[in-house]
Amino acid sequence: ETFDQMNLKENLLRGIYAFGFEKPSAIQQRAIVPCCTGRDVIAQAQSGTGKTATFSISILQRIDEKDPVVQALVMAPTRELAQQIQKVMGALGDYLNISVHPCIGGTSIRDDQRKLEGGVHVVVGTPGRVNDMIGRGILHTDKIKMFVLDEADEMLSRGFKDQIYEVFKYMPQDVQVVLLSATMPVEVLDVTQRFMRDPIRILV
Ligand code: AMP
Repeated sequence: ETFDQMNLKENLLRGIYAFGFEKPSAIQQRAIVPCCTGRDVIAQAQSGTGKTATFSISILQRIDEKDPVVQALVMAPTRELAQQIQKVMGALGDYLNISVHPCIGGTSIRDDQRKLEGGVHVVVGTPGRVNDMIGRGILHTDKIKMFVLDEADEMLSRGFKDQIYEVFKYMPQDVQVVLLSATMPVEVLDVTQRFMRDPIRILV
């Protein structure tokens, strides 16, 4: 299968090819189409498999560019990973009008607030800061249609369980959940059982 066969936006395809990807990796072949249709997806995948581009492409496909409100939220265990995801998504979305904002600790809340008020489509953050921004009423969750948890096992082993559960409370009822994890310990299975509906499971 090729990226051309995935029914992606023309300008998203341009971004994918311009970024240097020629053909989809195994996880991309199996997960992008279900993610784009709004299904819940559990992907057991290590880094190096192309997991970041998998959910990034799916988000970029699902975002309505004309509506500059937060439509997708990605949570990652570290600032570095969140920033890396933001860069990849920005590059893949180079030919789209989609803004991706990092919500990570160690930066000014005021700057975050200004950016979010200016209109952002996607937020990529760490659990602490994301929770904080939601609690302050700066990050609005009512239009979020896609919630991605990257490296879920890492996030839970870092003690973010309460914060992850808290963020779920703010997600709209019908939010799509995409969870990526290298391993499937009981803490991760708990999250999938509590918050995901009829998920597709992909092991790569
Ligand atoms: P990740 O699994 O997200 O850590 O990605 C691992 C590496 O694979 C990154 O350097 C990506 O740029 C690269 N990559 C992801 N998808 C593709 C693809 N379809 N073709 C070539 N390289 C890719």
